[in-house]
Amino acid sequence: MTATVIDGKAFAARVRAEVAAHVARLREESGVQPGLAVVLVGEDPASQVYVASKGKQTVEVGMASFEHRLDASTSEADLLALIARLNADPSVHGILVQLPLPAHLNAELVINSIDPAKDVDGFHISNVGLLGTGQKAMVPCTPLGCLMMLRDHHGSLAGMNAVVVGRSNIVGKPMAQLLLGESCTVTIAHSRTRDLAEICRRADILVAAVGRPEMVKGDWVKPGATVIDVGINRVERDGKTRLVGDVDYASAASVAGAITPVPGGVGPMTIACLLANTVTACCRSLGLAEPQGLTA
Ligand code: NDP
Repeated sequence: MTATVIDGKAFAARVRAEVAAHVARLREESGVQPGLAVVLVGEDPASQVYVASKGKQTVEVGMASFEHRLDASTSEADLLALIARLNADPSVHGILVQLPLPAHLNAELVINSIDPAKDVDGFHISNVGLLGTGQKAMVPCTPLGCLMMLRDHHGSLAGMNAVVVGRSNIVGKPMAQLLLGESCTVTIAHSRTRDLAEICRRADILVAAVGRPEMVKGDWVKPGATVIDVGINRVERDGKTRLVGDVDYASAASVAGAITPVPGGVGPMTIACLLANTVTACCRSLGLAEPQGLTA
């Protein structure tokens, strides 16, 4: 079998187009322009690239982008004061603090100081609790993107066996909650899991969010399963730096029914879902109808 390739790049373009259409309607009918504030502390090169890309895509869909670049030595009090100002600013509907933060800043404290209604990353403890209890939450962008692709490919996911490898707060756990919300039977695996390959082989839906290059092999995949590869790993190969996922793509694609590639799978969906979350947050704050299909 050769797997259907789930094209995250094309899907993300569709999501951005839907967001842009909704933003245009909001501006025309309510005179409101959704706004996203991104806060970057320090000069981590990867974070700078992400923040620039987020700002560019925010503007492209017609939203307002507010970038706050702070010195690496910024104090916690100054950062919290900025977040308090953004919480109170009616032109800001979404706030994202780029992680990781410099070591002297308490990331949990900082994230939990964001107004949960503006927490478009979905990391605030209130949103974690809402998602965990099946209530309307702001949902972390990467798992939301995975869910959108799965729903698009399968329609209903009810009754399917889903295995999520990885239990981080930003990917694995919220992914498992979302799949549970879709009535999948969910197993969460991690570094202490026994017989990992055997557990993966039971999955109709296999999500790999591990951070280990090409760990999941083709013979871990049930024939016809859908494989979602969240991993982004840089490896040196043939003298070049390449991006690979947590799944050994070649061997998995020969067994799976559908698979996301790396790059071009989950990655592009993450920023698209950040934009979707911002427009959702804006609609919720104004008591307006939310865009269909862009939330969990
Ligand atoms: P974390 O390092 O926070 O979590 C990794 C998880 O994988 C942990 O739960 C860990 O288990 C588990 N794990 C590690 N080694 C093994 C192993 N040998 N067998 C089974 N489980 C293992 O990573 P993230 O969740 O933040 O990210 C995971 C991957 O997804 C990374 O490659 C990252 O770059 C990528 N990513 C991609 C995004 C995108 O936009 N596409 C966004 C976010 C992340 P334990 O808890 O026991 O230590």
